[in-house]
Amino acid sequence: MFPAATFDGKSVAVFGLARSGTAAIEALRLGGAEVHAWDDSAPAVEKGRAAGLPISDLHELDFSRLDALVLSPGVPLTHPEPHWTVLKARHAGIEVIGDTEIFAREAAAAGARIVGITGTNGKSTTTALTGHVLAEAGLDVDVGGNIGKAVFLLRPPAKGRVYVLELSSFQIDLMPGLKPDVGILTNITPDHLDRHGSMENYAAVKARMFARQGRGDTALCGVDDPWCAAVARQARATGADVREVSVTRELADGISAPDGVLSDRRSGVAKAEIDLRSMPALRGRHNWQNAAMAYGAARALGVETARIAAAMKSFPGLAHRMQQVGRVDGIAFVNDSKATNADAAEKALSSFENIYWIAGGIAKAGGIAPLKPLFPRVARAYLIGQAAAEFASTLGGAMPVEDCGTLEKAVAAALRDARAEKRPGAVVLLSPACASFDQYPNFEVRGDAFVKAVSQLPGVDMTITGDAHAART
Ligand code: ADP
Repeated sequence: MFPAATFDGKSVAVFGLARSGTAAIEALRLGGAEVHAWDDSAPAVEKGRAAGLPISDLHELDFSRLDALVLSPGVPLTHPEPHWTVLKARHAGIEVIGDTEIFAREAAAAGARIVGITGTNGKSTTTALTGHVLAEAGLDVDVGGNIGKAVFLLRPPAKGRVYVLELSSFQIDLMPGLKPDVGILTNITPDHLDRHGSMENYAAVKARMFARQGRGDTALCGVDDPWCAAVARQARATGADVREVSVTRELADGISAPDGVLSDRRSGVAKAEIDLRSMPALRGRHNWQNAAMAYGAARALGVETARIAAAMKSFPGLAHRMQQVGRVDGIAFVNDSKATNADAAEKALSSFENIYWIAGGIAKAGGIAPLKPLFPRVARAYLIGQAAAEFASTLGGAMPVEDCGTLEKAVAAALRDARAEKRPGAVVLLSPACASFDQYPNFEVRGDAFVKAVSQLPGVDMTITGDAHAART
């Protein structure tokens, strides 16, 4: 915790008393601001009062005496309709900002640098990978925001320190001053439209990652979807170094990796190349996009290509996202518990072959029918939870199917078969294409249960080895 000195002597209302809000309140008070804290949830207010927070009912407060309303990113700013505190703030003409905006002002005042990362998919992976590469290269780096720690729980801003921040579109909406040294936009696909109203609005919020950048800043923008491609074109007007990123085609000017070999070109001239295909935690085209973004950020911050490549190789990956957790007799066990729908499971199924696939839970609409083209990659399927009967019927006769009921039984059965069949590069993959709530509180607990079951297999190797089928913990 450190003081938000840029708010010294100011008066602010903070609405939303969860983790990031509470940390912001402390930082503002330490920095010399007068703070009025509130939440719509009575238990949250009571908890805040008990913790000594400066609770005051914002219904009663005259907002015209305030300098700002600090809103939690979970609170509606525009859609489906503005929260009542937002209406009061607008009426009083005060700014509505988030903790990340205050943090960015502190960082700028201290001479720290910010790598801001957003996009519909790949934010967390890109953020963690960028943080890992910069740390391995010896930079003074801290990682947080929408992933991991709230910004005011990071180390205090210092000159030269680099903050790698995952920013949701809700956070960006609350950052009118956002001007990252390196901005990253991975991709834009329909998501969260309930909170943003329309695709146009959603894309416009994402575009704000680059809008205030200028000379000396770097903008890394995916161009594989039409929304991002349009954002990349707009970004050129700012004077920032705009680097386009594609994983579907070679770019003569940009960073591309359509076949898993990252190549960086400027005006047709090759600047660098990294073979991503041997990176154990960066399997699949979607991860090549994330890697291209992290590469671009590290280059912009002066890291040499060879160091970036070495660091990418040792990236352990994020838990529950195609995470290799162990190996038995050359058979890799992969935890992709985060795949709670067919779309996410598709990424994992297309990244491996000879798959012993553990799937099931509570199915989403449409089930696994969209995955049919990938069924030839699956050697055998092991079903768990409520969706077993539905999935068995979709799988039809495409491969042998066993209804195992539980994850533990599925892991044991998959190992038994994979061992007996000795297929090259065999993978036991938990990629459920389902929510977990029938058997687990959330996908993390489900993933942890998988890791535990794997760790108890006789002869298992849970160490990181670094080859293409490396086990990762
Ligand atoms: P986010 O933080 O944006 O939710 P994550 O990095 O946590 O993204 O990845 C979540 C899931 O999204 C992964 O398990 C994978 O299936 C998919 N994914 C990751 N990166 C990308 C990408 N660049 N493009 C499309 N899908 C991706």
